Amino acid sequence: MAKVFIALGTNLGDRKKNIQDALSGLEKIEGLVIDKVSNFIETEPVDCPGPNFLNGVIKVTTSLSPKKILEELFGIEKSLGRKREFKNAPRTIDLDILLYDDKIINEPHLKVPHPLMMRRGFVMSPLLEIESEIIELVEFLFRSK
Ligand code: ADP
Ligand code: MG
Repeated sequence: MAKVFIALGTNLGDRKKNIQDALSGLEKIEGLVIDKVSNFIETEPVDCPGPNFLNGVIKVTTSLSPKKILEELFGIEKSLGRKREFKNAPRTIDLDILLYDDKIINEPHLKVPHPLMMRRGFVMSPLLEIESEIIELVEFLFRSK
């Protein structure tokens, strides 16, 4: 079983409902169990003008491969009406894989650990809230890349 951290972000529509819907979508994934859910924090957009975000992180235990998880996340994004009109467009939900055990993955459509995570307070703050000791692994993985 792998220990995986997933970031959730929303800045379009009913943000609280988007988070709830995404969490119930995640709960329904076979082979994946949610262990921890952070608080969701209000944050200002970083790379784009637009409405404020709600951001949070969950920890899951799963038997699914990283690729399969990404597919499931895309499915949930789609079911919540996520459109990709332009880069960093406001989104009903963005689901990103932050960490998958201690794996380093460098495929065109899947980079783990998420390359920008350490630079983003809106990711690191909820991540460390639910698992402060993970910082050592994160620092190790970024040094090893
Ligand atoms: P954002 O960069 O805002 O998350 P998108 O959600 O549209 O933008 O994702 C852009 C691409 O990032 C996706 O097509 C996906 O394949 C790729 N990607 C690479 N690494 C990851 C990851 N760790 N988690 C989620 N998506 C990833
Ligand atoms: Mg994304």
